[in-house]
Amino acid sequence: MPIDLSPYQAVLLDLDGTVYHEDQPLPGAIQLIRRLHEQGKNYACLSNSTSSPLRVATRLGTMGVDVDLDRVYTAAAAAADYAVSHFRHPDNSRPRIYNLATEGIQEMLDGLVDWVQTDAEPCDAIIIGAPANSHATPERQRVALHLARKGAAAVGICSDRVYPSERGLEFGSGALSWLLCFAAAVEPVFCGKPQEIFFEELCRRLNVEPDGCLLIGDNLESDIFGAKAVGMRTILTLTGVARRGDLAKLPPDWQPDLVIEDLTDLL
Ligand SMILES: [Mg+2]
Repeated sequence: MPIDLSPYQAVLLDLDGTVYHEDQPLPGAIQLIRRLHEQGKNYACLSNSTSSPLRVATRLGTMGVDVDLDRVYTAAAAAADYAVSHFRHPDNSRPRIYNLATEGIQEMLDGLVDWVQTDAEPCDAIIIGAPANSHATPERQRVALHLARKGAAAVGICSDRVYPSERGLEFGSGALSWLLCFAAAVEPVFCGKPQEIFFEELCRRLNVEPDGCLLIGDNLESDIFGAKAVGMRTILTLTGVARRGDLAKLPPDWQPDLVIEDLTDLL
């Protein structure tokens, strides 16, 4: 059944499990993105990645999925946006940030923040990624611990406990965030899906209201519940995490508006 997208101000497409799986585009993904592009539709591709939109867009390109850079929004981008807007000083001086995450964070925030290098410096916030990230070495984790115990805010990129890699499951950004926060006795703020911060920063960028958006995703918790909580319409695709049987246990309020086998159902 082709779906009429014209009532929506913007279409939000989850990436992993919706648009691609590992390094393969999923059925209908390339065609749907092409159609959104040709119709001049406002849309965005979303990921809880700790990397930058530039790196994710480049990776999509290698799969044959052509998406403009400004159409990709990651949890790392939301954390960067949050850090810039939330920790600016009243005298307009730049936020002082410690990077416990990725090169993508470094690239997005270079020139917008003052980077903290040692635990002897004043620090407004620590941006926390996954333990396998380039800027989350054990030595840097120790520096972050001292900074957090001295009052730096803990900004977790996303609350994911684990993520899949070619080796199997890896500790996620949520796991490292809670490790640090437990040791420092502080509470983290998370910036990825399903947090409201993520959808609010995204809607600000797209210049749309959440209740005018349609989200298409494969994960009930991070995509569907997160989007419904801010008033978006939702479509669940069965190409990723969720199975049809998962829906039977859900109360009516939590059901997606539509369930599809894959994105070809929308074309
Ligand atoms: Mg997904």
